[in-house]
Amino acid sequence: MSLSQYNKKRKFDNTPEPGGKRASENKQLSFVVQRHKASHLHYDFRLEMDGVLKSWAVPKGPSLNPKDKRLAMMVEDHPYDYKDFKGIIPEGNYGAGVVEIWDSGKYTALADDKNADEKKLLKAGLKAGNLKFILKGKKLKGAFALVKIKNRTGDKDNTWLLIKHNDKYAVATAYDSEKETPKTSLINKALLQKDKNEPVKKKLVTD
Ligand code: MN
Repeated sequence: MSLSQYNKKRKFDNTPEPGGKRASENKQLSFVVQRHKASHLHYDFRLEMDGVLKSWAVPKGPSLNPKDKRLAMMVEDHPYDYKDFKGIIPEGNYGAGVVEIWDSGKYTALADDKNADEKKLLKAGLKAGNLKFILKGKKLKGAFALVKIKNRTGDKDNTWLLIKHNDKYAVATAYDSEKETPKTSLINKALLQKDKNEPVKKKLVTD
């Protein structure tokens, strides 16, 4: 697991994003979901593993409804410190736009055996393309899986699905992560501001 790809894509004298250093391993693992308004609005789902954040871009955002299989494209590892990053990535930079924290918290591996080595289990799950974990966020709670899609023509090698397991936190009704986002969020405020300054480009709000 390397941060060289992350570092290569960014100019740290021109973006407020943290530089890519591997952190020491924490006893309790963290996760974060960032909402990112770049050329397209999407969500970035990140799980701490081995001192970095394993990362997936989730176009539609996560769901608490187990019937939803949300496309999750694996992207480059991000530094551990990225879990606290929110703000504006200036134009001309990779991922230029606004990043806000949509949800965050701790997570654990979902293990049948309570004595299992959680970190080993997660690494094995990542390698096998079948990661099972329990999120303890403010919005996202309970068991989830990230499952890699294999051998489907046309799919890139980084295609995964994010799926909620059936448990007491699962919902049976339609789940829309956009509706769970406060109207006063950083991105929504930035879009409103833009709207005021550039009335002609009103459509930006919905792109
Ligand atoms: Mn992103």
